[in-house]
Amino acid sequence: MAKKKRTYPVRLVKENYSYTVEQIADLFGIDVATVRRWIKDEGLERIPKTRPFLVHSSALRAFLQKKKAKRKKSCQPHEVFCFKCQAPRTPKNGTGKIKKQPNGSLLFQAQCATCKGKINKAVKGKDWSEKHPLAAYLHNATKQHNGKHSPHRKCQLQGGDQLCLNLTPQTSA
Ligand SMILES: [Zn+2]
Repeated sequence: MAKKKRTYPVRLVKENYSYTVEQIADLFGIDVATVRRWIKDEGLERIPKTRPFLVHSSALRAFLQKKKAKRKKSCQPHEVFCFKCQAPRTPKNGTGKIKKQPNGSLLFQAQCATCKGKINKAVKGKDWSEKHPLAAYLHNATKQHNGKHSPHRKCQLQGGDQLCLNLTPQTSA
């Protein structure tokens, strides 16, 4: 089962309320340990000198909003997270490859435009097409192997597992 990204709707947080760690965990259906980690490692502010810890709703909201913004930043469709830069980066033009994984999903691999390090990002097969923002960075993006000159659905290249840009979800014609 693929790991689903959790969301923490800020609207669930009550106005002007002091939450216990357990209440926050209940609110989002998460582990108490996760909330403790937010406090310990991720900068969620607790009300000073409370034990058990209490977190004011304003601090919780601010924390969740920041978390959301951060995640948004790492999820731009045309960007790939670079572990070397520790930031979302644009791939270097012409360095992208798309590989089919044994489990059927696709892996986009390229060079980070900033540090030239290797970056990669999983792409769902059904999300992939020549219109995908990352398709513009493929090494063959400007060549004829883009499906425009050929009706191929799927083409094997020299590498063996390179997929044609024209790979689209199978639909019954
Ligand atoms: Zn980089």
